[in-house]
Amino acid sequence: MITIPLSKLQSVAPRKPPGYFDACIAAGTVVGENLELTESAFAALRAQFSPPPLTSQIKSAAGAVVAECGAAMTGVPQIDANTKAARLTTCEGCEFFIAADRRCQKCGCWMEVKAGFRAATCPEGKWQVETTPTA
Ligand code: SF4
Repeated sequence: MITIPLSKLQSVAPRKPPGYFDACIAAGTVVGENLELTESAFAALRAQFSPPPLTSQIKSAAGAVVAECGAAMTGVPQIDANTKAARLTTCEGCEFFIAADRRCQKCGCWMEVKAGFRAATCPEGKWQVETTPTA
């Protein structure tokens, strides 16, 4: 059994995707000022609400940078402000968006940066890569 103070859950909730606190409460049992979770429930919550492992985040970020450089070298135009804003709007309405960090829980990327990359993609397919080269 894993015991987590409710105050700790409340303090980290803003740095998690929407629904984190309620999902934790639903997955465990409140005992006094603590939440008790089985190890399997804790693992399931971690899988659902935590960013991917650091190695995956590094791989994802490096891939995005390499793809951006490749797109630039092949003449794909930079993302315009409207496209970036539309991507961010989509992220802001997404269940995987961590508003406090403006970060994606699926890929771990900081969306203010990634949404401006012409070769970036949403890991859930909610917005697409810009691949049109200039003439
Ligand atoms: S990149 Fe995709 S999955 Fe991640 S927060 Fe934005 S819309 Fe959601």
